[in-house]
Amino acid sequence: MLNQPQVPDKCPRCGSTQFQLAKIGQYNVISNGGYQSLTKLHDVMVCLCGHTVLIERPQRREDRQSLQNSLEAAQKYRERAGPEQIKAELERDFVTHAEFEALSERVSTLEAFLQQLTDTDQHEGQENGSGDHAK
Ligand SMILES: [Zn+2]
Repeated sequence: MLNQPQVPDKCPRCGSTQFQLAKIGQYNVISNGGYQSLTKLHDVMVCLCGHTVLIERPQRREDRQSLQNSLEAAQKYRERAGPEQIKAELERDFVTHAEFEALSERVSTLEAFLQQLTDTDQHEGQENGSGDHAK
């Protein structure tokens, strides 16, 4: 449990000395599409490696506990998220080069097909037009 506000001189996880100061809290979406915080926002230092350090002591016990739980959950996730999990997530979210090539070929085929249809429509339109003109 955090007893006193403190700014880390270096990240306890990776040793970096550069941080981003961020304000975190719980939010909900309001009717105009914006966000509003449901809780008081608290300062955290976020390291380049993703490690977060709470640098102020929330006044309310529930806030302290909620923040501590969130920081611990995020840290546990990062520790679990090894190369295999990252690879699995990338495979889920991105197409492979072979899949991209196959999709590109399908798009090209569809474009050529649409172009043929457009050309045919224009030809028929011109033929009808010239037919009408000949009358
Ligand atoms: Zn770090």
